[in-house]
Amino acid sequence: MKGQRKWILMTAALVASSLLSGCVGKGPVSQANTTMQAERVLLSGNIQTQNSAQPAAQALAMKDGKIVYVGDNGGAEKFMGPNTQVENVNGKLVLPGLVDAHTHPGTIGYFADAQALPDAPTVAAIQAWLTDYVNDNPEAKVIVAGSWRTLDFGVTGPNKRIIDEVVSHIPVLLFDDSGHSQLLNSKALELMGVDKNSLDPSTDLSFFARDENGEPTGWVKEFAAIPFLAKVYQKGENFQMVLKAFVDYMAYSGVTTLFDGGNLAFEDDVYTELKRLDDNGELPIHIEAVHHLYLPNMIDGALAEFKRLKKNYEGKNLKFNTIKIHFDGVNEIRTSALSQPFSDDPSTSGGTLMTQTRLLEFMLELHRENVDLHMHTVGDRAVTMALDAFEQARLKVKGEFNVRLTLTHLEYVQMEDVKRFKPLGVIANFTPHWYGGYIEGAEVTMGHERESWGMRVTPYIEEGAVVTYSSDVVTPDEFDRANPFFGMQTIHTRQEVQDGKDAHVTLPLHDRISMENLIRGYTQGGAYQLRMEDTKGSIEVGKNADIIIMRENLFEMDKYEISEAKVLKTFKDGEVIYERNFVAIAEEIIYDLFF
Ligand SMILES: [Zn+2]
Repeated sequence: MKGQRKWILMTAALVASSLLSGCVGKGPVSQANTTMQAERVLLSGNIQTQNSAQPAAQALAMKDGKIVYVGDNGGAEKFMGPNTQVENVNGKLVLPGLVDAHTHPGTIGYFADAQALPDAPTVAAIQAWLTDYVNDNPEAKVIVAGSWRTLDFGVTGPNKRIIDEVVSHIPVLLFDDSGHSQLLNSKALELMGVDKNSLDPSTDLSFFARDENGEPTGWVKEFAAIPFLAKVYQKGENFQMVLKAFVDYMAYSGVTTLFDGGNLAFEDDVYTELKRLDDNGELPIHIEAVHHLYLPNMIDGALAEFKRLKKNYEGKNLKFNTIKIHFDGVNEIRTSALSQPFSDDPSTSGGTLMTQTRLLEFMLELHRENVDLHMHTVGDRAVTMALDAFEQARLKVKGEFNVRLTLTHLEYVQMEDVKRFKPLGVIANFTPHWYGGYIEGAEVTMGHERESWGMRVTPYIEEGAVVTYSSDVVTPDEFDRANPFFGMQTIHTRQEVQDGKDAHVTLPLHDRISMENLIRGYTQGGAYQLRMEDTKGSIEVGKNADIIIMRENLFEMDKYEISEAKVLKTFKDGEVIYERNFVAIAEEIIYDLFF
């Protein structure tokens, strides 16, 4: 696997760099009395604080994991004693640690050993690949691979015959390119006990596509096949290494806090490993974990399951405060909940995991337990339902409503709903690296007019809503796209980074997001989403010393080089969790030479 070499190199480099960190000079100044003396002082920086009361500063001091001073160099002197590590930043840009407000370290690790189909495979290519795989792996008990293009198979989708003709003795699950459906062979359906008489988990969201006789075709939408996948597919030998490499890559990329977007049926495996890292002091960043709801039969037991996860796995850097709901599906397979039917299949307008009434009750349950809610909402009907339920729940509660609600993706939303985010205090989350045309297929299913609305961010900013940004990477081949600077360049130019300056520009041009807005969303916004606005998101006295020093000034550099911006040093709680020393630089040179 192409990326695997990089992970190994990255892990080795990060281990080495952590050993070498802390090699900064000791300060010669000793005017501080011992109670004032900070552990670290940064001088002569271009500190952009994200604190509106003091937007810029030259120096800062850190003590006991907190920021104890922000101001000019002169004022920092009284915090400098014989044991203070003083670093002259030489005018470099200094920012609060970044918050990736929705991504999936667990699935990146879990699918590290899954198989990759050829790019954009034809039926013949899929069959040839399967034939070769079975010949090369006669002992295989299951095949899990991806991905095929939803665009290639139209409204009826692919048929199980494609697989049955070449593999019928073991179950096969082939993921689509949206990650929201799979093609199964007859053996898999048989082992699941699914036939023409079986009920669907839900009729318009999570279901088995059927032919004119009611026979399942093998195309399984949303997450109806996940319980079966969890039984037959086990994490591979690279799970631990890749999961660790990913959290280290986040620290390398300036991310000090991450919201986990969910792990489907693999929560216990993922959180067991993250807890092990946390307990061993090997989890460099803060992770806000979740219980992930993706099938209707999970709703009633959700809070009990959330509490079990929290009790079993919570630790210093791994916290549980939020439930994630996959409320609707995606446009590409016609499962997003729209107010009007799909353009190429007027028989459906998608579906939601629960009714609005049940959602309202669920929000009130969360209120009683002080749990926040993060909802996958793609279509306009899903967004309206979520906002309506939230509005009604708030009205039913006397006093403060204890649920902070984030809606993520927001691919097609009515303007009257966009205007409701700010007054309701609902947070809007977006994925910047998608804005160069990364996701394809919606134009065919929804029609040009709706598709061209295109996950717009500017209307939310103009309305004053809290906007947050995330990488939402799910599979190992997306590993590099989790770099926030990659995402920033993409949404700032609306061009795919990998295609260079001449890449296709995704309209509308006025929805190019400024670097000021991006940094605000990646810092203040993310901290607010995670209810950490008092401790994170700005460089301010009393807040956690989560800070990054950049090699480049993001606000002044060539916009086509933003993705190459480098973090020189990442601090979390006043400790160096990444330093771009000679080992890290050597690793980058090796990587550039080979990949
Ligand atoms: Zn996600």
